[in-house]
Amino acid sequence: MADTKINSNEDSNQLVQKIVSLCKRRGFVFQSSEIYGGLKSCYDYGPLGVELKRNIAQAWWDSMVYEREDVVGLDASIMMHPKVWETSGHLAGFSDPLVDCLNCKERFRADKATKVDVGTTVEFYQGGKSSGKKLTGVCDRGYVCPQCGSTLLSKERSFNLMFRAGFGPIDYIGQIVEDIEKKVASIKDGGSFPDSKTLRDSIESVINKNAVFLRPETAQAMFVQFLNVVQSTSMHIPFGIAQCGKSFRNEIVTEHFIFRSCEFEQMELEYFVEPGTQAQYLDYWKNTRIEWYRKLANKPDNFRLRRHDKDELAHYSDDCYDIEYLYPWGWDELEGIASRTDYDLSKHSKASNTKLSYFDLQKQDPNTGKQGYRYIPYVIEPSAGLTRSLLCFLLDAYTEEVGVDANGNEKTRVLLKLSPKLAPIKVAVFPLVKKDGLPERARKIAAALRKRRINVVCDDNQSIGKRYAKHDEIGTPYCITVDNQSLEDSSVTVRDRDTAGQVRLSEQEAIEHVLKGLGLELI
Ligand SMILES: [Zn+2]
Repeated sequence: MADTKINSNEDSNQLVQKIVSLCKRRGFVFQSSEIYGGLKSCYDYGPLGVELKRNIAQAWWDSMVYEREDVVGLDASIMMHPKVWETSGHLAGFSDPLVDCLNCKERFRADKATKVDVGTTVEFYQGGKSSGKKLTGVCDRGYVCPQCGSTLLSKERSFNLMFRAGFGPIDYIGQIVEDIEKKVASIKDGGSFPDSKTLRDSIESVINKNAVFLRPETAQAMFVQFLNVVQSTSMHIPFGIAQCGKSFRNEIVTEHFIFRSCEFEQMELEYFVEPGTQAQYLDYWKNTRIEWYRKLANKPDNFRLRRHDKDELAHYSDDCYDIEYLYPWGWDELEGIASRTDYDLSKHSKASNTKLSYFDLQKQDPNTGKQGYRYIPYVIEPSAGLTRSLLCFLLDAYTEEVGVDANGNEKTRVLLKLSPKLAPIKVAVFPLVKKDGLPERARKIAAALRKRRINVVCDDNQSIGKRYAKHDEIGTPYCITVDNQSLEDSSVTVRDRDTAGQVRLSEQEAIEHVLKGLGLELI
């Protein structure tokens, strides 16, 4: 990635910090359980965050389901039969080699660590602190600690990224204690206490008997429900199943605010196609998906497609693209569009002894030449992160405009240029002052707008200037102000967030004006 533009760490942190601070101050995102010191990498979406998140999910659902004939939805359980994960390979393969840095105590993924040629002598500071003694080491395994650059590392160990939970009110710890007591008691009779591996395996088997896992992706439900969906809807290939929901991964590294967290939300489509046509549909979906982001964003050039190198492809994938966004820390993943072949349906067919295939009566079987063709569909999977998209749209919308205030002093206006479709509040209605019947007039206008099922607020706190500034900062596209002139001629002012320009219109015209701007005018 030679063209990757990475801002300096300081700039990058500064912008992310500004977003984090705005999110907390205005009620987009809070640290989970903050009054108890917070829970690392867990976040709560506040009054504005929940609206923004719902609006992004709805925009996705509109484009993937409502605006199409060939996609239906699904909302599957977060807990699924453990066989699903055994078959998908998540139980065995969903693990990463982990390493502890013995110098600075950082725990990191070996495959993501800073690569250094074996035999290279490197310098690092004792304890990872620049005040520490300078040490040198020779790299003996091809990477060093990404935090402090040290070569003093623990062995690589496996670590499962799925959250494991006990299913049912079964006291498996009691069972384990009982087993160990029996083993200890048997020593008296000449038995021996098992070695640690045998002991570990026997404890694992007790725990796994009642274990369920929180899903690490929403996709598997679309594969295991494939037959039910086909039979209940009579969908014809090509068609897709869309799902939006929570997924959980015990990530080693959680980073960049909500970019990578243990609990997150996904928006995934599994699009089933005839074998041999996958390249054409991969092409279609990668273009469709990047267009979706670009249409909703201010800076379309900050989105790009990156094709995976052959050695990057997952074993089940024959081609894959990432939609990348230019985050403050550089280009990074936003959505993956993978051609997953028939891997998932084939594996689940075999493991469950259920034919997850499709029969096309209209087609000739290319192998036998007979009418009617039964096959296991291939799958194209556009897999997007909802919470990650939320961060991306916030970064894209965040704007600082330097201007001059009434006294000639330099003043910075902060605004979120969110697409009206995504903006948490669509219109704010203000009475200029809290008297003379202005609040009642404002409420009437707000009520008329609410009939269109949009999020409208009536705000009479603080000075009008502060109210405008607040709504600029949270991305409200329009502010309608009722003032003294309104009492005379029923006119109001409508202020546009992006230009800060105002027009005076009759109440009815004002309502029509903002509805048109929001794309909600009557067709
Ligand atoms: Zn370290």
